[in-house]
Amino acid sequence: MPSPTALPAAAKTNPSPDRHCSFATGFRRAVGQLASVRRPWWETWANCRISVKAISVLGSTGSIGTQTLQIAEEFPEQFRVVALTAGRNLDLLVQQIQRHQPELVALANADLLPELQQRLDALGSDRKRPQLVGGPDGLNIAASWESADLVVTGIVGCAGLLPTLAAVRAGKDLALANKETLIAAGPVVLPELKKSGSRLLPADSEHSAIFQCLQGTPWAENARLSTGVPTPGLRRIQLTASGGAFRDWKAEDLENATVADATSHPNWSMGRKITVDSASLMNKGLEVIEAHYLFGLDYDHIEIVIHPQSIIHSMIELADSSVLAQLGWPDMKLPILYCLSWPSRLETPWRRLDLTEVGQLSFRAPDPAKYPCMQLAYAAGRAGGTMPAVMNAANEEAVAQFLEEKIHFLDIPVVIEAACERHKADLIAHPQLEDVLAVDQWARMAVREQVKRGTTRVPLAAPAA
Ligand code: NAD
Ligand code: MG
Repeated sequence: MPSPTALPAAAKTNPSPDRHCSFATGFRRAVGQLASVRRPWWETWANCRISVKAISVLGSTGSIGTQTLQIAEEFPEQFRVVALTAGRNLDLLVQQIQRHQPELVALANADLLPELQQRLDALGSDRKRPQLVGGPDGLNIAASWESADLVVTGIVGCAGLLPTLAAVRAGKDLALANKETLIAAGPVVLPELKKSGSRLLPADSEHSAIFQCLQGTPWAENARLSTGVPTPGLRRIQLTASGGAFRDWKAEDLENATVADATSHPNWSMGRKITVDSASLMNKGLEVIEAHYLFGLDYDHIEIVIHPQSIIHSMIELADSSVLAQLGWPDMKLPILYCLSWPSRLETPWRRLDLTEVGQLSFRAPDPAKYPCMQLAYAAGRAGGTMPAVMNAANEEAVAQFLEEKIHFLDIPVVIEAACERHKADLIAHPQLEDVLAVDQWARMAVREQVKRGTTRVPLAAPAA
């Protein structure tokens, strides 16, 4: 059993997240905020005792990104946005720049930089302009931006890997939403975290629930954040799953599933890729691997339970058999806020949970026949090394093909399984970054080729001539 150690210290450039401001500063902020926001004085006072935190938001135009910016707007005395990155949505990005006035903006696609520059020029010159950068290097600059205390990783898919690593190497703390990075490259990211001392704060609601439950245990001080080492005293994790769009469908009815069906989630409003992952339960499978890397438990002690109401966000069982859970409405703003304010908590005026309104909390075991992706994820996690990277990339490509209506929903697990089977002989147990990037590319290509050949279960794509 490894000896428990204290949390790694934050890098020197990072102000400690639990640093509280002086009485005078808190007073000045509280007065300023009372004048601008209608909020009871006691909330304002409590919140203003926490230092302002500078945040860099990767994927600012997505679901996680926009909710992060809503929080920053709601708590202007606590959070300052210093850097943004986005893909193609210039309309929204320009609005975000106007509102938050970041120091730096990075566009994934450098070709769009002149258009962004033109649009900002057209707004007039009364406001300070951000520095604009583009391409992969630009994303890395935003991720390691010097004045940022914390980086929110809201990029979807393995595209978030290199910026996440850049943030870790710069010693930044991270609000980790981009789970694909950890799943594909856990063996690469964990040692880097250890080296730099940066901490992964889980923004995914289930992992936030586990993290929040751990705060209340005698082991909280020694709970290791993302070292891959078992958290002392943590015996079992139960991840709750809503069951996704097809929760109430019979397995045989999935033959009729369309893109519109798979992208309408009953409880959560999220980006399209993760919504499809929820429908296939791959999202929960990915979260099992994420939990393994974040909290160090082996796969036999991480379970999935279907909980249709999405009120309990996950549970932990401790050494004495006690089970702790975190509850709340299904709203990502809460776990994101906890990442931003940790280890403090901010007073919010948000809708409070009323269990009498919910009425009933129910639970059932997931049906492995209906959700084959779940089993694929456990198998890839147990195989370890490069296998989760292959499974993750095959899933990303399969979901993209499904969203383009080139394959059927039921083809998704078929093409993933085929890629994982083919990779078995080439698995690298202790991969370097280059290995992860190489197998990621290989798996995407393997899926594309399979779809092109029309050898998927329901070949909707025209077979190659
Ligand atoms: P989204 O599709 O709504 O937004 C994705 C963001 O990433 C956008 O800003 C987009 O411009 C940017 N982006 C897309 N491709 C890119 C690329 N190649 N390079 C750089 N930027 C790119 O996605 P989302 O739902 O916000 O999810 C983001 C991440 O958070 C995912 O990893 C997801 O699994 C995770 N997550 C999301 C939620 C949620 O409620 N949305 C909950 C838990 C975890
Ligand atoms: Mg989740």
